[in-house]
Amino acid sequence: MTTGFIGLGTMGLPMAACLERQGFELLGWDSDPGALQNFSNDTSSIAALAASCDTFITMLPEGEHVRAVHDQLFDAVVADHCLFIDCSTIDVATTREIATDLVARGHAFVDAPVSGGNEAAASGSLSFMIGGESADIERARPWLEAMGGKLNEFGAAGAGQAAKACHNMICGITALGVCEAFALADSLGLDLERFYQLCSGAAAQSWILENRCPVPGPAPDAPASNDYAPGFAARLMAKDLGLAQQAAAASGQETRFGSEAARRFQEFVEAGNGDVDFSAIYRSIRK
Ligand code: NAD
Repeated sequence: MTTGFIGLGTMGLPMAACLERQGFELLGWDSDPGALQNFSNDTSSIAALAASCDTFITMLPEGEHVRAVHDQLFDAVVADHCLFIDCSTIDVATTREIATDLVARGHAFVDAPVSGGNEAAASGSLSFMIGGESADIERARPWLEAMGGKLNEFGAAGAGQAAKACHNMICGITALGVCEAFALADSLGLDLERFYQLCSGAAAQSWILENRCPVPGPAPDAPASNDYAPGFAARLMAKDLGLAQQAAAASGQETRFGSEAARRFQEFVEAGNGDVDFSAIYRSIRK
């Protein structure tokens, strides 16, 4: 049987191409005809995909899209005991509901959101954060290993999304800390190149500092040195911080810095900055 890949956008298209290069037989589907025609082995409808696949990978914007796709698949024919791998970044609660529904129908489900942008998707070096039953994860392993360098398992269905939300909450909070420190350093008249060298070799070092240094110059490959071209778009950061806040509310855990980061990035996106790299929030911080 064939693998159905649904959602052929910025991430899904290179992920699907990566699987094809490694010999997986794929059929692709996207509700946007423009995105669909970018993929060599597209199909005429989701019903046609449902009829010929026993493994389905989704790479979609939000939980509502993943649900809608599952509903469409079940309206068509789906073989018994299929494997569903959701690589989208969506909320924990929806993921758990989807998993319960699929298991009740006799299927296997793994949530496997990713860290890494479309370059990592194209080179098959994504990091996966994985939730699901052990047997289902083992079943999904060949697809995940083909697309990713690192497979991080966290437990039952939804745990992959939980890990992703917490991970990205650290990134969002750190980004604001780095931006504020650079804004203050600049306003105090420090040489920002030297300040960057200090921080990257001392306790303030972080992936965010080194790869998303918010001012142009010190890190030549960072988006800031390329007019803040993403990178990781600010709207995706705002989305992920919002998902972390949903999870925090559902679990009753207070996350004051996470909440503030979610608010600041949402405000930044609503001011028309959704498509620039998230490190561009520096421009709204430095007065
Ligand atoms: P995208 O918007 O580029 O692609 C999503 C695709 O899904 C689009 O082509 C859209 O037409 C399609 N789609 C939407 N609803 C559909 C439906 N009902 N049926 C079929 N197709 C449908 O988004 P992306 O950047 O590829 O991101 C996908 C997911 O990966 C998101 O959850 C995002 O948060 C996550 N993610 C993105 C990045 C990144 O750098 N872009 C990194 C890590 C994780």
